[in-house]
Amino acid sequence: CGICGVVGHRTASPLIFEALRRLEYRGYDSAGIATLDNGRIDRRRAPGKLDHLQAVLEAQPLAGTTGIGHTRWATHGEPNEQNAHPHAVGQVAVVHNGIIENYESLRDELVAEGRVFSSETDTEVVAQLIDLMMSRGASPQEAARESLQRLQGAYALAIIFASHDGLIIGARHGAPLAVGYGEGEMFLGSDSIALAPLAQKITYLDDGDWVVLTPRSVQIFDETGKKVRRPAQPMALIA
Ligand code: GLU
Repeated sequence: CGICGVVGHRTASPLIFEALRRLEYRGYDSAGIATLDNGRIDRRRAPGKLDHLQAVLEAQPLAGTTGIGHTRWATHGEPNEQNAHPHAVGQVAVVHNGIIENYESLRDELVAEGRVFSSETDTEVVAQLIDLMMSRGASPQEAARESLQRLQGAYALAIIFASHDGLIIGARHGAPLAVGYGEGEMFLGSDSIALAPLAQKITYLDDGDWVVLTPRSVQIFDETGKKVRRPAQPMALIA
């Protein structure tokens, strides 16, 4: 299972797809990509091998220069299209590797708020929570931060926001996630293999870190919300 995020100036979907190919070795049962197209979340998902997703993307390509992708190793809910990531709710789309241990209580709470779920995954609570907070006026950063504080379990996450083209928020807690630096473009990936052909430098996030990416900036925060600096290594030394 793996995650990729791209925010920059090139069409994101082909870059994400190639990164998912390089993450195939980790194992998966379904895959998907979501991008922002003129203020709208658009996505393609397919059960099974990446060839299935590729066929869907060839028939209906995704536009947009901000996007996230995922290969899923199902833990909660069958490996079908409906449960495949990205999970999109309102203005938010999310990819997640890991397990949200307290998803049942969060789902009960969200259902009580009138939220309607469209998958059987533990992941959907993350998209629902962030979208709920944004619908009440929170910024992407506030909504992500407050939602992360509610999650128990292991996660690597990447999140995009319909109203904020050029923005990805990522988070790492008990599952690996790295930031890749390019020229006028930034990347998220589960490992350096995913990022090797894309990024010039790479930073592995520390556990508990979350990160705000735009095409020209990377801001990393620790668990307490304090802005931190993490060392970046030249990709040539790793790849
Ligand atoms: N627990 C999530 C799911 O079943 C994520 C699985 C993964 O790590 O790919 O959808």
